[in-house]
Amino acid sequence: MSVVGIDVGFQNCYIAVARSGGIETIANEYSDRCTPVRHSHIHGFKKFHGRAFDDPFVQAEKPKLPYGLHKLANGNTGIKVRYLDEDTVFTVEQITGMLLTKLKETSESALKKPVVDCVISVPSFFTDAERRSVFDATQIAGLNCLRLINDTTAVALAYGIYKQDLPTPEERPRNVVFVDMGHSSFQVSITAFNKGKLKVLSTAFDLYLGGRNFDEALVDYFCEEFKGKYKLNVRDNPRALLRLHQECEKLKKLMSANSSDLPLNIECFMNDIDVSSRMNRGQFEDMCAQYLMRVEMPLKVALEQSKLSRDDIYAVEVVGGATRIPAIKERIAKFFCKDISTTLNADEAVARGCALQCA
Ligand code: ATP
Ligand code: MG
Repeated sequence: MSVVGIDVGFQNCYIAVARSGGIETIANEYSDRCTPVRHSHIHGFKKFHGRAFDDPFVQAEKPKLPYGLHKLANGNTGIKVRYLDEDTVFTVEQITGMLLTKLKETSESALKKPVVDCVISVPSFFTDAERRSVFDATQIAGLNCLRLINDTTAVALAYGIYKQDLPTPEERPRNVVFVDMGHSSFQVSITAFNKGKLKVLSTAFDLYLGGRNFDEALVDYFCEEFKGKYKLNVRDNPRALLRLHQECEKLKKLMSANSSDLPLNIECFMNDIDVSSRMNRGQFEDMCAQYLMRVEMPLKVALEQSKLSRDDIYAVEVVGGATRIPAIKERIAKFFCKDISTTLNADEAVARGCALQCA
């Protein structure tokens, strides 16, 4: 029976499997290798695993969600969903369980056989309670979770496996920095490699820095602009706000590839009004200065903890969607005084590493 590796991201999920020919990433029914977390309108629940309803993070997230939260009898966070025409409260484990059930089905139809065993990645900063909660979700989905591994460890495995030229066990190890910025968080690790051996020297993170901060900065800016220009209160209209979010994320991605002025146009945005505006990369970077400033700290902590100096670093490998933002790449390169490498598949590396763990 095959063991699948699953990367359950805040925004995107990937599944990989080790086969005789190597590691393969599995596509879903839309022939897409990426399965978005958003099913119906439920998303953004990854960080509610193992968190109390009264946790300040949970309370801060509440107004941003298109669904309600509910305090469960044990103090944990419950998610209120309209299910079969009735309001029902689910545990986070049940919600992630549903997502994993879907990913299990995707795997089974791609592999044409039952899938039970899996390895799942979690952020390196997840606590024991948070890990246990993810583990419970795998059981709800009928999966047998052989191991939970840290995102950055999975990336290190994916890196090490195909490198033919790693130093022998007697030689000085090759030290590689792995940087992963996803939608919700930022993780860094430094790993030492010898042939057949991998040692994680340090891990560091910013729990609350990710692509979504950059989307929110754009949303804030345009909400303010449209209030003055079109007398629209976007925040009072959840549907319009959601559309603006989607358009801002698209604009953010376009700005990664293009430094010139780019348009933002939304037809029939609210009250039949078409809105339009412009933005360029320079303005965007000024607007996000507070987030860009936070890139350095986890890099510094990881380097200090590893007790290495910059000269001991062989390569800096980046993965995760948000590392495509040029200003983020620049800051990482500048800190390590080194060009960054992108030898790994930025989106699939975590899932591929998970698949390797039990291959
Ligand atoms: P997490 O690791 O925090 O749980 P995730 O694994 O779901 O989240 P990824 O799929 O690695 O996150 O990255 C998604 C983020 O990357 C989103 O914020 C998305 O907008 C952003 N992103 C993807 N492509 C680009 C791009 N070209 N330019 C800027 N941002 C991008
Ligand atoms: Mg991720």
